[in-house]
Amino acid sequence: MADIIQLLSDHIANQIAAGEVIQRPASAVKELLENAIDAGATDIQLILKDAGKELIQVIDNGKGMSPTDARMSFERHATSKIKNIDDLFRIRTMGFRGEALASIAAVAQVELKTRQASNDIGSKICIEGTDVVLQEPCATPIGTSIMVKNLFFNVPARRNFLKSNNTEFRNILDEFTRVALAYPSLAFRLFHNGVEQFRLESGNLKTRIVNLLSGSVEKNLVPVQEETDWIKIHGFIGKPESSTKTRGNQFFFINDRFIRNSYLHHAVATAYEGLMEKETFPFYVLFLETDPARVDVNVHPTKQEVKFEDDRMMYAYLNAAVRHALARFNIAPSLDFTLSPEITKLPSVEMPISHREKEKVEAGYLFNNFSRKDQAHFIDKKEGLKQWKELYQIAQQPLASQTPSTPNAEPISLHKTTETATHQNMLVVQNNFLVTTVKSGLMVVHIRRAYERIWQERLLENWDTGQFVSQQLLFPATYEWSAQDALLLESVLEDLARIGFDIAPFGQSTFVVRGLPSSLKAGEEKDVLDEVIEHLRHESQNAVAQRKEQLTAQVAKRIALNKPQLQQPEEQQALIDELFACTQPEYAPDGKKVFSFLKTETLQDLLG
Ligand code: ADP
Ligand code: MG
Repeated sequence: MADIIQLLSDHIANQIAAGEVIQRPASAVKELLENAIDAGATDIQLILKDAGKELIQVIDNGKGMSPTDARMSFERHATSKIKNIDDLFRIRTMGFRGEALASIAAVAQVELKTRQASNDIGSKICIEGTDVVLQEPCATPIGTSIMVKNLFFNVPARRNFLKSNNTEFRNILDEFTRVALAYPSLAFRLFHNGVEQFRLESGNLKTRIVNLLSGSVEKNLVPVQEETDWIKIHGFIGKPESSTKTRGNQFFFINDRFIRNSYLHHAVATAYEGLMEKETFPFYVLFLETDPARVDVNVHPTKQEVKFEDDRMMYAYLNAAVRHALARFNIAPSLDFTLSPEITKLPSVEMPISHREKEKVEAGYLFNNFSRKDQAHFIDKKEGLKQWKELYQIAQQPLASQTPSTPNAEPISLHKTTETATHQNMLVVQNNFLVTTVKSGLMVVHIRRAYERIWQERLLENWDTGQFVSQQLLFPATYEWSAQDALLLESVLEDLARIGFDIAPFGQSTFVVRGLPSSLKAGEEKDVLDEVIEHLRHESQNAVAQRKEQLTAQVAKRIALNKPQLQQPEEQQALIDELFACTQPEYAPDGKKVFSFLKTETLQDLLG
């Protein structure tokens, strides 16, 4: 048989790579702004037409490029930013994969003009879908101007999948905001369809926040500033009363790079616990600075997901920093803050702070000796725990008179757990039920339903906070659906993203799945997505409101099928603990009972 394997042409390879880096106009905007910053620009203009679909232009006054570099910059893996593998770990610039310009050039018509200070004359290059159509000297100011026209002109499927101008422009504004917040000392201007939308002068973070987000936040800003050898934090958080029902004003930057991180968000949100209304989001713009070698930012092409060497430390530290800031604005009334009564109840506020301690705090030593117990509140404050606490406590009480049970009372199919590690008697029956002694007899827990409940609540929380933990697939999978099904799936991509799915359209009715909610195993996504589509097909108009419940339930159901064997008493105990920390432990997402009781009387009746 003839050989059938061929190398992809550069052209196609670039288009595929482009799909990874450039998904929408906003992704191109982000890359171009980052390049301008890396080039040392102090003045950056972003010019858009039709939400970037027709034109994205970035003009900077940075160091520019030589004619050869200008040509080279469009090659894949062309970068001036890394020379060897060690650089990858030290790098502090924004982009460093050398893919952005190549990707953009593969899917748009690009015109670049650039000049270095040492040259009197600049160079101009025009590229269309990777082909250089023109390169010539030209007169142009020092710095770089890059125009990206008709994005996806040669990938109709992608172009058709772009959202309304309104949505795409909002996405661009999100990127612009993140970059402008991270660099308050640089001047930015943004024009859309000929209208100047932003003119941000060089200034400090506070003025940048006010000019960019809204003047009304100014009176609500609380400064955060902490420093150790290991990490520095600075920025602003909002007073509790300024928290909003909608998210959007939460920003983390690690070494000046915007990141999303649900874990860190949780660290901030719990610091506000008891100070804010339920289901509101605190405002924050926080900059964490740490040794770049401790942070792996290159785990995802769009570089918003990061991994830390020690994220538990990071969590505890951030949480403490925010608590400290909230407390401190009470102990420093001169700072013109009004005090909400709840804040005065904070233990850290109630405790008198000696002059010396205050000095220590200001010198940043607060966290050098904080203990792990500061993290304890992370798990146990779940709403609803209270009402179930009683039941849970009952479940924890061993039945003194009945332990240990007589050996011949046990059917062989029962998997009996070691009793040493826990004071509680638990049996796993055929891997389906967890049976435990309670005061009134036995409690029987349906293991899979328990996991469904637990997972749905976790996903709902991801959804509400908009902060999810997504595991990126080493080998992204592509799937094709019918045109109709593809449209259905497309309509919920944003919803799926809220619980950790990273899925992008890839061609006519094909999608590439790049990330999954943690705990869903690679390969299992197809089933779930099919089910989701199936359900959407029959979804009535008013069911859209219940989509959140529906999607989270479907995904939870799939994840729950991976339930562990529960052989260790600790695992069994953890299941019970987590279940009763749920707001609705009693019922699985589909309404079926999760647990039930077998009263001693019933047991007695059984035996006559
Ligand atoms: P990366 O930023 O990862 O290096 P890019 O494809 O974004 O990859 O850019 C490739 C190279 O082109 C950069 O390393 C830089 O040398 C050069 N470059 C891109 N944009 C600019 C700019 N605005 N000013 C100066 N040089 C630039
Ligand atoms: Mg770049």
